[in-house]
Amino acid sequence: MENIENKIDLFKSIKSIKGVGSKISKYLNNKKIDKIKDLLLDFPYSQTDRGNLIETNKLEIGKIATLKLKILKYNFPRIRNLPNKIICEDDKGKIEIVYFNSKEPYLKKIYPLNSNVVVSGKVNYYKNKYQITNPEYVTEAENINEVSRLIPKYALTEGLTEKKYRKIIGNVLNTIPDLGEWHDDDLFKKLNLPSWKNSIINLHNPEIKKDLNSIYYKRLAFDEIFTNLLIHSYNREKIKKIKKKQKKIIDLNLNFKNKIGFELTKNQKNIITEILNDLTSEKKMFRILQGDVGSGKTIIAFITALNVIKSGYQCALMAPTEILAKQHFHSFKKLFGYLDLNITILTGKTKYSEKKEIIEQIKCGKTNFIFGTHSLFQKTIKFNNLGYIIIDEQHKFGVKQRMDLSNKGGKNCDILLMSATPIPRTMMMTIYGDMDISILKEKPLDRKPVLTISKPEKKIDEVINYVEKQIDLNNQVFWVCPFIEDRNNPEFTSVKKRYELINKRFPKKVGLMHGSLTKIEQESLLEKFLQKEIKVLISTTVIEVGIDFPNANLIIIDNSNKFGLAQLHQLRGRVGRGKKQGICILMYKESLSKNAIKRIKILKSSNDGFDISEKDMQLRGFGDLIGFQQSGVKYFKIADPMIHKNLFQIAEKIIKKDNFNYKNIRKYNFLLKFFDKTDII
Ligand code: ADP
Ligand code: MG
Repeated sequence: MENIENKIDLFKSIKSIKGVGSKISKYLNNKKIDKIKDLLLDFPYSQTDRGNLIETNKLEIGKIATLKLKILKYNFPRIRNLPNKIICEDDKGKIEIVYFNSKEPYLKKIYPLNSNVVVSGKVNYYKNKYQITNPEYVTEAENINEVSRLIPKYALTEGLTEKKYRKIIGNVLNTIPDLGEWHDDDLFKKLNLPSWKNSIINLHNPEIKKDLNSIYYKRLAFDEIFTNLLIHSYNREKIKKIKKKQKKIIDLNLNFKNKIGFELTKNQKNIITEILNDLTSEKKMFRILQGDVGSGKTIIAFITALNVIKSGYQCALMAPTEILAKQHFHSFKKLFGYLDLNITILTGKTKYSEKKEIIEQIKCGKTNFIFGTHSLFQKTIKFNNLGYIIIDEQHKFGVKQRMDLSNKGGKNCDILLMSATPIPRTMMMTIYGDMDISILKEKPLDRKPVLTISKPEKKIDEVINYVEKQIDLNNQVFWVCPFIEDRNNPEFTSVKKRYELINKRFPKKVGLMHGSLTKIEQESLLEKFLQKEIKVLISTTVIEVGIDFPNANLIIIDNSNKFGLAQLHQLRGRVGRGKKQGICILMYKESLSKNAIKRIKILKSSNDGFDISEKDMQLRGFGDLIGFQQSGVKYFKIADPMIHKNLFQIAEKIIKKDNFNYKNIRKYNFLLKFFDKTDII
């Protein structure tokens, strides 16, 4: 009979397991396994047999695939933290095998150049390439029969035999304590899912693990989704508990037409009212304003800021780049200059002598509204009475950074984030559940949707003639290519190659912009483009989100099938922001996959960023949603936003019913620890 003494503490170091000494624990640490519970989440790879062997033209993102591949070459970067890659192919195409924290000699040994191997793992898609990251299984092609044997196989662990690893895991599985059930909500009970312990044990059976729809998978996925939402909800409640000094003098007159030259849309007015209510409430505001490119978020920020200033507080607006900060500064001056407020801009470029003066004025409270980059939040800057922080284009912030931000400015300071990165509606709570959310869907009435057309690359002469026409009309053009140089990607057009061609045609009128230029060089190019010194800007995707280029009306995108849908939508949002009709030409090479044709169709038929991001997620998976690669927002370990959609909805319902605080969050302590979330709350 088992007794409690035999049960283990899952949060202890793996060293406490019998048979795991410092050598083995070091090996396991390399696999990011530190605590016993980490072992539990290292499920065996899905047992695959020869029947499941597929070729690279049949890959599906997010699914486990087993492939027979030839090793073409290695790509082992000399820069720390970049993963090692092994480029492989079969008759139908290429795929990259990616390893984080790996040693080159070891990879060379298991992936000998020009040899054939069998690889099995979950397929992902990153930077336009199919990849398998840390495949669960790899063996010489001759051993293919081994793959179908019914032994759980775990991710490769250098220096540790599979047998040994299986034994360690087997030991742990045998001693998992009975933890009882932490979910007692009827909605959860209706799902009729197995216990946590039962699920863990079953998922270490490769046959069961294979099925992402199995109830065991669902159970753990639910726990993970729930934990994620729980954290958000908890943080949200924590912020809502903060009592602030209410802002008082509020001007509710939203008839600005005479002053700013256009009528606010109904949607804009509603959101302004929503924010004004927050400002006058005694709860601190922590709100995100989501709106497609060009939907008119800035004016919402400005009008609400005016009210904060009237109420006797200072405002700060932070933009990700100097050029955008400048643009906001000037447009505020243009719109509200008549009000005679003290507004200033502070960026990294501000001269020392001026800076001293500006800092002094902020400190003594003379400055009403300060614009700038992140330099606004240096320690040397002390606000006199900061009441409102506005952050533009903030999609690169993770949950932890947002919490830090909410603490900035102190308790009397309300916070508004703005982002033009549309999130599929189904993912809204998962990503922004810690904030109140305003969604600006309605676009200004006079905004015509960007006309989107596609052209095969062989018709480039037609496209260039069209560019010439636009230049003659004094219009400006963006030309976007996926890569900087051809060297790495001979099959695609690079900005450098494109620049050579176009610059020959229109000498002195063309600029070349890419991520290898310094920030200063990039900004000076954009400035030249804004001043119309340059007519055509050939660029990678670095062209800044948020900047208004009212005179640019044409964007051409080379190798357009190499970009995600949401990204293409963002790119075309660079044009058509002025009075002229915006046009987007999607160029493509001869052969388009079915998927690519579908994508072009979606773009041509929809101008709604939310709609497009939803479809993008369906086609390419959650991890490729624009902005999330850079943001460091962690993918789920178990849950899959596409497969477990209904679990997200149920967890959301349960969370919404309950307000989580220190007391009732305790019953989920195990989950918070299990998913390493204790540092966020
Ligand atoms: P984004 O939401 O991408 O930040 P902006 O705030 O930069 O968009 O707005 C884009 C342009 O639309 C700006 O030139 C702005 O003055 C204009 N605009 C905003 N609201 C309206 C409106 N209701 N009617 C007409 N033009 C508007
Ligand atoms: Mg903007």
